Amino acid sequence: MKASAFSYARATSVGNALQLLAAHGDSAKVLSGGQSLMPAMNLRLLAPDLLIDIGGLTELKGIAIDGDVLRIGALTRHVDVMNSADIAIHAPLLTEAIAHVAHPAIRNKGTLGGSLAHADPASELPACMLALDATIIVRGEAGERRIAANDFFTGIYETALSPQELLVAVELPIAQKNATHFFHEFARRHGDYAIVGMAAQAVVRENLFKDLRIALFAVGDRPVLAATAARLIDVAVTAEVLAGASAALGDELDPQEDQQASPEMRRYLAKVLLARAVAALLGRPDLAGTVA
Ligand SMILES: Cc1cc2nc3c(=O)[nH]c(=O)nc-3n(C[C@H](O)[C@H](O)[C@H](O)COP(=O)(O)OP(=O)(O)OC[C@H]3O[C@@H](n4cnc5c(N)ncnc54)[C@H](O)[C@@H]3O)c2cc1C
Repeated sequence: MKASAFSYARATSVGNALQLLAAHGDSAKVLSGGQSLMPAMNLRLLAPDLLIDIGGLTELKGIAIDGDVLRIGALTRHVDVMNSADIAIHAPLLTEAIAHVAHPAIRNKGTLGGSLAHADPASELPACMLALDATIIVRGEAGERRIAANDFFTGIYETALSPQELLVAVELPIAQKNATHFFHEFARRHGDYAIVGMAAQAVVRENLFKDLRIALFAVGDRPVLAATAARLIDVAVTAEVLAGASAALGDELDPQEDQQASPEMRRYLAKVLLARAVAALLGRPDLAGTVA
């Protein structure tokens, strides 16, 4: 199938893109890498009257460190995030996770901002933003808003962005001393969307979690920051403690049914990932099979 007819405007600056969005709002769509938008248009799931192409806006591209914050422009392509030395040092969770996003041809065009604005609940990067405690920066004609990642994703393909706003960047706190991370997803094939996945960021000192942020994807209508993680902070994690957290995680999640898995299977896989994450982060292989 082919997309229905649409008009096309190539934005010349962020200000110009915002003017176009203010004028056309609901009937327009922003085009970044096109890796989600174009398939959706070709399937006629979306039929915008106008595409606003922001692909040429260099001011939205790039990775920079400012003090203890890592800023990534919305138009930074997946391949550039994956190959960035700064990200490998200061947010290595992202380097590891992004290798699981689709395939090289898609990573060569797809952008971080596009992935976050698209808000597929089975996507890796929205969950990473929760685990890394990111701030999402959006701009409209009225000015800039800074939104905590945990408040940004509001439903399946839904975010806190208004139709008149552009996602311009994300900011991540750079990894602290003693920081460590875990990423794993269950998928039929490498590069497929996950059946269930987990991204976690932790600070471990003297065998205790001093901080632990566990985000899951493909377990609901949006990525989930597991409240259960709080049970594991500043306590000696025994098999009993982990079994309690595992049961609590199962209660906390409300996964959906689809052709890939039942809710029960997704809950079980999430618990398997929790055990593996805790075992890996604490260097405790004895805990890797603890599933309630
Ligand atoms: C075969 C295939 C497999 C894939 N597998 C995966 C996978 O395993 N994991 C995964 O996470 N993704 C996967 N993707 C999606 C891919 O990662 C996309 O690149 C990404 O989701 C969207 O980025 P984009 O720059 O291409 O955005 P686009 O397609 O250009 O835009 C996506 C949506 O976001 C909006 N948008 C884009 N940029 C902005 C902005 N700056 N401000 C406001 N709104 C904006 C658009 O209007 C549109 O609604 C797959 C895609 C394909 C085709």
